[in-house]
Amino acid sequence: MEKTVASEPHELLGQLHSTADEFIAIRRAIHAHPELAFEEQRTSDLVAECLRNWGYQVHRGLGGTGVVGVLQKGEGTKSIGIRADMDALPILERTGLDYASRLPGKMHACGHDGHTAMLLCAARYLAQSQDFNGRLHLIFQPAEENEGGALRMVEEGLFEQFPCDEIYALHNAPGLPVGQMAISSGPAMASFDRVTVTLRGRSAHGAMPHHGIDSMQCAASIVLGLQSIITREIDAQQAVVITVGSIQAGEVYNIVPESAVLKIGVRALDPDVRRKVEQRLQAFVQAQASSYQLECEIEYLHKYPVLVNRPEQTEYARQAAIRLLGADMVGERPPTMGSEDFAYMLQHRPGAYIRLGNGVGEDGGCMVHNPLYDFNDKALHIGAAFWVHLASSYLV
Ligand SMILES: [Zn+2]
Ligand SMILES: [Zn+2]
Repeated sequence: MEKTVASEPHELLGQLHSTADEFIAIRRAIHAHPELAFEEQRTSDLVAECLRNWGYQVHRGLGGTGVVGVLQKGEGTKSIGIRADMDALPILERTGLDYASRLPGKMHACGHDGHTAMLLCAARYLAQSQDFNGRLHLIFQPAEENEGGALRMVEEGLFEQFPCDEIYALHNAPGLPVGQMAISSGPAMASFDRVTVTLRGRSAHGAMPHHGIDSMQCAASIVLGLQSIITREIDAQQAVVITVGSIQAGEVYNIVPESAVLKIGVRALDPDVRRKVEQRLQAFVQAQASSYQLECEIEYLHKYPVLVNRPEQTEYARQAAIRLLGADMVGERPPTMGSEDFAYMLQHRPGAYIRLGNGVGEDGGCMVHNPLYDFNDKALHIGAAFWVHLASSYLV
């Protein structure tokens, strides 16, 4: 293929569309063999082999199955990092597609198969058909779902070994038409904390509860009372979600349960609000427990941080998307209360996280984490063209 200095964005779309079938085949092969967090062996083998064939220096092992592909062109000293996630979810697929998961109970239900394939599509084009001046880092991470693969890569030296001036990632968005992208500056995804509360009282005959100390009564009181932290103590303009997702207590009608375990998820869009909710939740639960004469243990695990898009990189990504797709195809994206571990990378390097339309209705509108979801292959070359254009216009 002939090399171009910087392909016109509208030509890029056509060029990547013409190679899309090959990468759609790769996407479907990944889809058929989903791998859960930190088990992405087959997927990372495929990624590493492709990158090596196209002339990338390939580094493996960060975060276990992580792969980083490095390509330098020219003498330029600028560097950019682009991340794709590779992991699947523990869901039983029900799409009935001919390339559906071969592994019952595992499924690419978040479209990370598409993210991986589109970055590979961009990788080949950037290596073979696109000039640029500087250093490109393509980061394929494990375990985005719940297990913080991005944090492990960062802790194991991602940005020391592969310094990036700026970093970017994208996620497919069901409900947003194919051909559109969306991004907003500031908090884009919520922090997520996992809290396990264990209450211990004393069992008793259900007919004589006064001989026991009832953990169930206290658990019920905590479930209801926790919401008043949000409604009475946090500024109504601040977004917080507290979800009690599980109560385990007791077995039968006539025994006062000795213990109760509550599993609680806490989400916020502001680090200070996150801290305040933690402090108040701990104090509230302890006070409730002691008012019911129960012992109480709280395990408060900080999971993903708030994902914050930096203004400058958000604008850079937005302008790149506008040049590629047109101004009317690039919208704002209000924050959501979901979480994303790219937030850890954004704590260390300036960057932004952008949404790519996956389609509406029957054509790509099924929400992620659903057994009927599928990444929309019509969006693959659009995401790839975005990466090519973003990287090549940065590395000049
Ligand atoms: Zn997901
Ligand atoms: Zn995802």
